[in-house]
Amino acid sequence: MPFTASVISAKEWGAKPPKQWSEITRPQYIVVHHTATPNSPNDVSKGTLAGAKNFAKSIQTAHMDGFGWVDSGHNFLNTTGGFLLEGRQGSLDAIKQGRCLRSAHAGNPKGNESPGIENEGTFTTYQMNAQQWNSLVDLCVSICSSCKIDPDNIKGHRDFSPTQCPGDWLYSQLSRLRSDVRQRLGASTEDYLREGSTGQKVKELQQILKAKGFNPGPIDGVFGSGTLQAVISFQKYQRLNADGVVDSITWKALNSFPTPKEEPPSTVNLLDSYKFYRGLPHQDQAIAWLQEQVSKPTLEQFSQKWRNLPSQPFLPLQAGAVGSEVKQLQQRLQQQGFNPGAIDGVFGAGTKAAVIAFQKSKGILADGIVGEKTWATVNLS
Ligand SMILES: [Zn+2]
Repeated sequence: MPFTASVISAKEWGAKPPKQWSEITRPQYIVVHHTATPNSPNDVSKGTLAGAKNFAKSIQTAHMDGFGWVDSGHNFLNTTGGFLLEGRQGSLDAIKQGRCLRSAHAGNPKGNESPGIENEGTFTTYQMNAQQWNSLVDLCVSICSSCKIDPDNIKGHRDFSPTQCPGDWLYSQLSRLRSDVRQRLGASTEDYLREGSTGQKVKELQQILKAKGFNPGPIDGVFGSGTLQAVISFQKYQRLNADGVVDSITWKALNSFPTPKEEPPSTVNLLDSYKFYRGLPHQDQAIAWLQEQVSKPTLEQFSQKWRNLPSQPFLPLQAGAVGSEVKQLQQRLQQQGFNPGAIDGVFGAGTKAAVIAFQKSKGILADGIVGEKTWATVNLS
């Protein structure tokens, strides 16, 4: 299900640029807040579009000038008129790609990796109007869908740090919110496995990853960083969206991935070894070990001979790709006057637009996909 909620971007409501761009994260939750501002008829936005935009601006000013934050602390604002507005800039693009931006709403590092939605009002006893509720449901449906978040992971601010937020009434309605969202998602909900998941299913995942040659570390039923890296390596290898979340597409690809028939060659054949370990979580360790075995003069000769040749990444690079090669691409684009947005190693809409502009300027087929020709041109020009 695509992202369908109607959200006014920070650019559209006239936000000031952030003092600094925020780190891209892998969200696990949605965090619901209230703004603790007056309810109707004294609500700040007065339920109008103009009022909503002004409210977003005043929150941004308070967070940047008052608290000294880099930008708005929340990711989204939902006003009494049911207008949805982007908070921290870049949140909307990131969410549409299944990611989020580290923000400052939850008072907790883990919570700040997930999208925070500020709902205008004080919901201790006061009940949210239907318009605002429906917008909250719309936004949660879109976020759950694009970020593969189970509706059970819709939480309140107070689940992350000591606070009254989002008010007793709104907190008591989170179960209704989860079931409304689940109903709207319908058949598109799945039992996703992601960092933090535990249990028998995770154990099965770890076993299959290991069998297919992507070592997740201990087979313990806990989806930690080792499992995450193994899943990402597998997804990259299969050119899937490398979001580290195991959905039905990733399961299917894992099940149909051929089980390596033999161990890597026991006789040292460097090229085969490198190909075998490339992209695996322990690649760096393997290569570092190998390097220690090679004499210094040999390494120097090696470096002399090869260091000035352009390196070749896994090509093509395209929307959804992540990693150091994408970062190198973004840096080269920027150096040549094409703005890819944040230099974050994530191939998003900004990077794609910059690639297309670059390709047009060089007379290369402008498909936004970095194949060998575009890669060579961007690195040599
Ligand atoms: Zn809050």
